[in-house]
Amino acid sequence: MPLTKAEAALLARRTGMAIEDFTWRNNGILTLLNDEKTRACVFLLTASADINAEGMCSVYEVRPQGCRTYPNVLDHNDKVILDEGCPHKAQFPVPTEEDAIVLLNLEEQLLREE
Ligand code: SF4
Repeated sequence: MPLTKAEAALLARRTGMAIEDFTWRNNGILTLLNDEKTRACVFLLTASADINAEGMCSVYEVRPQGCRTYPNVLDHNDKVILDEGCPHKAQFPVPTEEDAIVLLNLEEQLLREE
């Protein structure tokens, strides 16, 4: 999941972790790291590496905007869609133009911070 520098700083303050311990650069974009054992986000409380395993976000109150808007994602044409990889996408409404604008603004900010 991508995140802004400000979101990373907030997570660092709340968790006491160094930013380098929970992020990496994916093609220049700051991105949440996955845990080596569970292969899920380092902040997901889960004991399983199963992609559909139950888990709980340990930083839910301060999770990045990309987490808040998921499973809405932009496709290659900057059209907002529900992420094909989300096992629960049928439970979410069809994304709107407002959802697209939120994601496009986030994308612009992330690209500026590259
Ligand atoms: S919602 Fe929480 S556990 Fe899920 S990707 Fe975001 S920070 Fe990680």
